[in-house]
Amino acid sequence: MNIEKYKKILQEIPENVTLIAVSKTKPASDIETLYQLGQRVFGENKAQELKEKYEILPKDIQWHFIGHLQTNKIKYIAPFVSMIHSIDSFKLLQEINRIAKNHNRVIPCLLQFHIAEEESKFGFDFHECEAMLQDPQFATLKNIQIAGVMGMATFTDNQEQVRQEFHHLKDIFQQLKSNYFSDNKEFKEISMGMTDDYPIAIAEGSTLIRIGSAIFGERQYNLPIND
Ligand SMILES: *Cc1c(COP(=O)(O)O)cnc(C)c1O
Repeated sequence: MNIEKYKKILQEIPENVTLIAVSKTKPASDIETLYQLGQRVFGENKAQELKEKYEILPKDIQWHFIGHLQTNKIKYIAPFVSMIHSIDSFKLLQEINRIAKNHNRVIPCLLQFHIAEEESKFGFDFHECEAMLQDPQFATLKNIQIAGVMGMATFTDNQEQVRQEFHHLKDIFQQLKSNYFSDNKEFKEISMGMTDDYPIAIAEGSTLIRIGSAIFGERQYNLPIND
């Protein structure tokens, strides 16, 4: 772990930006260490891993789910998750709503957009998302709350390209805000920026940065990324 880097990031980010410490693949002891330093917001991308960590760690941690979510895994996180960043279909949102209702909860969710040039990244395109927001069924979902947007830039050294992709996400946010959420104060988050690109993301208007390896060190994967 790199505690100095963690402290440096906290110092350099503006007050309106929240740091999500992305602890995926890392042991609970690492999370505990950061918790002792005051960190309360953590991000995970696997539902079962998140549930296991939730069960053994302090209950005032705010857990953000940031990975691709399969409908049959919603049940693992629905009772406690603070925010789901990765809504990429109407079906997923409806299913989260249904399960959240069983738990008497309203779960904050972000609409994930495909802003990168890479094919592999999940997310809505703009028209698909508008179709959902205009669907009469959408207005009936009372156990989810759309809190903003999320996106991932292309993995590239081209900083200008990354900047443009983040700018594009900010544009999407503003269009949705004025067309669908103008009287909704909860629609306010732009989740963008990771270890390699968070300064650009903040400059382009990010409110939630998701940082893993800069804080916890490189990850070792033994599992496929999208289970
Ligand atoms: C892993 C992950 C991150 C953190 O990535 P780092 O480059 O390690 O900071 C952020 N967002 C998502 C969606 C991730 O899956």
